[in-house]
Amino acid sequence: MTITELDQTYVAGTYSRFPVEIVSGKGSRVTDAAGKTYVDMGSGIGVAAFGIGDDAWKAAVIAQLGMVQHTSNLYYTEPCAVLAKLLCEKTGMKKVFFSNSGAEANECAIKAARKYSAEKKGGDCFTIVTLKNSFHGRTLTTLAATGQDHFHELFQPLTPGFVHVEANNIEALQKAVAEHNVAGILMEPVQGEGGVIPLTSAFVKAAADIAHEKDIPLMIDEVQTGNGRTGMLYGYMHFGIQPDIVSTAKGLSGGLPIGATLLGEKVRSVLGPGDHGSTFGGNPVCCAGAVSILSRLDDAFLAEVREKSAYVFSRLNGAPGVESVTGMGLMIGIKTAAPAGEVVRRCMDKGVLCLTAKDKVRLLPALNIPMEDLQFAVDTIPEAAKELRGNT
Ligand SMILES: *Cc1c(COP(=O)(O)O)cnc(C)c1O
Repeated sequence: MTITELDQTYVAGTYSRFPVEIVSGKGSRVTDAAGKTYVDMGSGIGVAAFGIGDDAWKAAVIAQLGMVQHTSNLYYTEPCAVLAKLLCEKTGMKKVFFSNSGAEANECAIKAARKYSAEKKGGDCFTIVTLKNSFHGRTLTTLAATGQDHFHELFQPLTPGFVHVEANNIEALQKAVAEHNVAGILMEPVQGEGGVIPLTSAFVKAAADIAHEKDIPLMIDEVQTGNGRTGMLYGYMHFGIQPDIVSTAKGLSGGLPIGATLLGEKVRSVLGPGDHGSTFGGNPVCCAGAVSILSRLDDAFLAEVREKSAYVFSRLNGAPGVESVTGMGLMIGIKTAAPAGEVVRRCMDKGVLCLTAKDKVRLLPALNIPMEDLQFAVDTIPEAAKELRGNT
């Protein structure tokens, strides 16, 4: 059997894959089994933050692999402790819980908010307010948090205690907080899977004010927006707020599985021995990769991300076949006249791999993508969109 046939026979059918088998890559280029090379504008859904096989990242990971690959959380290890310190110093948060994915990072955030509120306000205070059109993960609890009904069908009953309010609607948020015994408010700074839609500054600031006033932990889901993706270290930093809990994952370890839940002053000691855990959490190889990534996300680097973002926006805004461009930093959604799926297919033929989100073409390239690769991609996407529009 071919690799495609093996996969289709034996791997659970949860993903509709593109007809491409990727075998290798370097930086922002990947090569398929037929030897064709593509510019990678997806970086494994915003995970390979410094592209494929970044030399410094690889050296850090291999060095740790040569020492010890796993210890469990019964013992101390350097990469875990150093990464936690880096995360806290760069955000002002106080403690970190490590897991292995975005959903788990959110699961921990929700547990921390519920325990804080149960201890302070009683066991009836458990409702978590999230936003419509949000995405927070695939476990039964993070699905319940996700404000998109089509993910919920046939998986009932989900974890109870979640209400969803319209994004950017301050009155709807005030109403939900008045009507429910609210234990936490959870939101993405830019709704990623929902179509790359940034929240308004007024809404994020109002949410932070309401949360502060009512002693409700404010949780920011930075699984996709975190670790430099939006041109700031974390997406919330665009809004001048200080969350109580931040969850992150995707790009943090440059391609290795990791989740992190950052706990601020309010909730710094809410999780005690036995309250939560993860066998793989804080894995030294994953943490060594993350230290390599995070320590390089400094002001100068983030300024380059913002410059590349401005370049993409300026080239795509108003381009033929392009209706709108949304997002922040190198997290970009493009509404094309032709259906996004068709544009992505045509881009693939032309040697550019893109993602979709709802009805948008979505770009999440490596944060250090070379200008020449970025140029090729932003020339190719409108070209593909224009050609398809010509067909209809
Ligand atoms: C991807 C994503 C998740 C889920 O992360 P997994 O690692 O797939 O569990 C949660 N929240 C947001 C905002 C995401 O983009």
